[in-house]
Amino acid sequence: MRRLLQLKCLPFASVFYLVMMSSFAQQTFIRAGRVVDPVSGTTSQNQIIVVEGRKIIDVGRNINIPANARVIDLSKSVVTPGLFDAHTHVCATVSKFADWLGVDYFDMVLLNPNGYRAIQGAVHAKEMLEAGFTTIRDAGNSGKYADVDVKRAINEGLIPGPTMVVAGKIIAPFGGQFRTRADKQFLYNDEYAFADSKDEIVKAIRENIYYGSDVIKVVVDGQRYSYSYEDLKTIVAEARNAGLKVMAHCQTPASEYAAAKAGVASIEHGWTIPDSVARVMKEKNVILVSTDFTEEVLLEFGHPAERAKAIHSRRVERLARAYKAGVMIAFGTDIMIDVENRTRGEFAIGYITSFVEAGIPNAQIVRALTTTPAILMGMEQQRGRVAKGMFADIIATEINPLDDINALKQVRFVMKEGSVIVNKN
Ligand SMILES: [Zn+2]
Repeated sequence: MRRLLQLKCLPFASVFYLVMMSSFAQQTFIRAGRVVDPVSGTTSQNQIIVVEGRKIIDVGRNINIPANARVIDLSKSVVTPGLFDAHTHVCATVSKFADWLGVDYFDMVLLNPNGYRAIQGAVHAKEMLEAGFTTIRDAGNSGKYADVDVKRAINEGLIPGPTMVVAGKIIAPFGGQFRTRADKQFLYNDEYAFADSKDEIVKAIRENIYYGSDVIKVVVDGQRYSYSYEDLKTIVAEARNAGLKVMAHCQTPASEYAAAKAGVASIEHGWTIPDSVARVMKEKNVILVSTDFTEEVLLEFGHPAERAKAIHSRRVERLARAYKAGVMIAFGTDIMIDVENRTRGEFAIGYITSFVEAGIPNAQIVRALTTTPAILMGMEQQRGRVAKGMFADIIATEINPLDDINALKQVRFVMKEGSVIVNKN
């Protein structure tokens, strides 16, 4: 009888066992010493994070870890949501001592074929991810949609990289930025769509969306002429028709004001942000992506020491002012150069120094790196927090970034959508 029972039970038991094993195989239990919540600016102790597939399915203190479960021990670490860089250019590398009035920048566009630009993008994207940036918004200067290709390869699992939101071609009044339009017609610059009239603007936006852009990037004031408030209204409306947001490069008070009033999602750089602009930004929930080059980056760009100091202190002063005025700020770096012995991700996280210098509290810097850019990219229900239902985008550090924000420069563990990318524990 017993033998019979065993025999009868065996097939059932083995099927049951296989089902259980396969569900365990999909689940990972992370023991986290502390978990940072950017919304409240606090940490919870001794949490178990349950990851299944690409998502977090539970977080809490009293969660049972089944025997034989896959466990990642971060019990001595502080877990923070994966970081965001809301302004990258992974497919671009200009000479460190670029002549920004044209020649070196134009060199990059003319001499590097699209395939090479995509390979640069793949390398930089991986470097960003390994430093803890699980999501990036790429702001164009990406050849002929090389950013779209890099994003696709990441999403298909061909190469490692962060979740990417890509801008494709930058839309701008004739000439774009710098001097990237030669008077020789055959020296064509793929990176910009020059659009001046309303029809040209609408067509440029539609083309961009057709070829895979997730966000519309406009350069409002790269030349002596700028997009007007009316132009910007057209841009925002046309992008919105397809469910896209607009990121607006602005450097002058007039264009910052016009862009904010027209309802762009973010002002990129925003070098001035007077009170009048801050007021409209707050009214319209426009986020500042402040791209505050550190003094070190400016030196790398070839600025003499005194000039680097002067530019940097002006930037920090206006960042402090925007923060005090209550403008929402998202972390963005705008890096387009490579430096020796440092990956682009390691270089990017260095920008937190500018936030510290602006007197922004650590908890708010963490928000600028997580929940605020998640809102900017329309991902606040999916990313930016370690919580049930979110994608499992997780980093860990030895020190609590709420105590010392520089902890984020030493990320020891990175998980993107449930896959472990870095584990130095
Ligand atoms: Zn940029």
